[in-house]
Amino acid sequence: MKLYNTLSKKKEEFVPLEEGKVRMYVCGPTVYNFIHIGNARPMIVFDTVRRYFEYKGYDVNYVSNFTDVDDKIINKAIEEGVTADEISKRYIAECKKDMEGMNVKPATTHPLATEEISGMIAMIETLVKKGYAYEKNGTVYFRIRRFKDYGKLSHKNLDDLRSGERSLLVSGEDEKEDPLDFVLWKPKKEGEPFWESPWSDGRPGWHIECSEMSKKYLGEQIDIHAGGEDLVFPHHENEIAQSEAANGKEFAKYWLHNAFLNIDNRKMSKSLGNFRTVREISEQYDLQALRFFMLGAHYRSPLNFSAELMEASKSGLERIVNAADNLKFLMKHADGNMTAEEEALLTGTDKFVKDFEGAMEDDFNTADAVAAVFDLVKYCNTHAAQKSSGEFLEKLLGVLVKLTDVLGILVDKKEEILEEDIERLIEERKAARKAKDFARADAIRAELLEKGIILEDTREGVKWKRA
Ligand code: AMP
Ligand code: ZN
Repeated sequence: MKLYNTLSKKKEEFVPLEEGKVRMYVCGPTVYNFIHIGNARPMIVFDTVRRYFEYKGYDVNYVSNFTDVDDKIINKAIEEGVTADEISKRYIAECKKDMEGMNVKPATTHPLATEEISGMIAMIETLVKKGYAYEKNGTVYFRIRRFKDYGKLSHKNLDDLRSGERSLLVSGEDEKEDPLDFVLWKPKKEGEPFWESPWSDGRPGWHIECSEMSKKYLGEQIDIHAGGEDLVFPHHENEIAQSEAANGKEFAKYWLHNAFLNIDNRKMSKSLGNFRTVREISEQYDLQALRFFMLGAHYRSPLNFSAELMEASKSGLERIVNAADNLKFLMKHADGNMTAEEEALLTGTDKFVKDFEGAMEDDFNTADAVAAVFDLVKYCNTHAAQKSSGEFLEKLLGVLVKLTDVLGILVDKKEEILEEDIERLIEERKAARKAKDFARADAIRAELLEKGIILEDTREGVKWKRA
């Protein structure tokens, strides 16, 4: 399997640190609002990367944080007159709802920055002790000059960076030894959340959060670190400096970065008024269509969002779902084992699986993987018929589901049924039976079964369970 490593600027063969295992960290969102569709891109593409590793049999430890202490959160809290904690908790819950809608699997661990402060303080203390960090008036800075590999990820020239930064230097920051030194710990301002530390009552810098959480949940060395391309510099460059200086080991082997999502060919921004949240999209579309849209491009290519492209994704997704529905419909009236001819037809699907895997093995080329799924859909539509055996149809559906599962596309989404609706239908069935309307009673039982609810008539009355 080949993946493009930002560190080497090359596609490299994936070799795990530990056989059969993948340790992967993906920088998560800062939670001060509903997530926007740009934030959804890394969530969807790296969830798909995870799913492909799992498909290949790897055990994936997938960690993705929530940054729940930040100026933007504090400002929003002030605006609403509530605590920063209330803001971050609210938007973490909302983000998880959006993730569920997009069928993004929950991470193995979703650490919260505010719950990991003591570990961050310990890491900063190590950096100070080793001479990689220094304190000035309660603020602790990372001394980039001490870290000889600084710039290796972003491939930046330090002198150019310095001259750029020098002109940006604002007063109060000139206590730094070098304009590129960055903050590890900063003192609180009035009214801000804070934690006690050896240097001041304050809070950690953003970069140290990920270095610490990655170390705590995945160990000092990890296979893959990922995020949007805007994070390469300074965030990931600084994470490398902190982690490698503190631990004395290479931090992550492979660095993966998704390109940006634009709207109508323009950068998404509040000032342009073209900012779209995932929640807004969900009012118009099933979020599966948004997921499918994201996977239609390679993750390292810029992606443009527009109403027309979204409509095209919706109908593309429908083609796949319809093919699966058709197979399921035919299966209802079919039985029997495969004929020799059907066996040969089933073997014919190997080509699509091979194409799909080949695309994914080539730096997760989901665009080509989707094309292979469409080829399979066409094949299913051509070869599944009323005379097909049940076994053949089932196996065909199995191949389709195997591939769509990797993409996180659900082809047999069960309609969710609420408990109160189940109870209501059970009552209705009881009434129908009393009135000797057995046809209606049976229809209700069948309707519930279709939705995965099994009824059991017992001495104590009707009981139900989810299948
Ligand atoms: P943030 O909350 O800004 O730290 O962003 C969370 C994640 O979303 C990071 O991995 C960002 O790189 C990514 N991200 C933000 N905006 C976009 C965008 N327009 N397109 C793609 N990724 C983005
Ligand atoms: Zn991070």
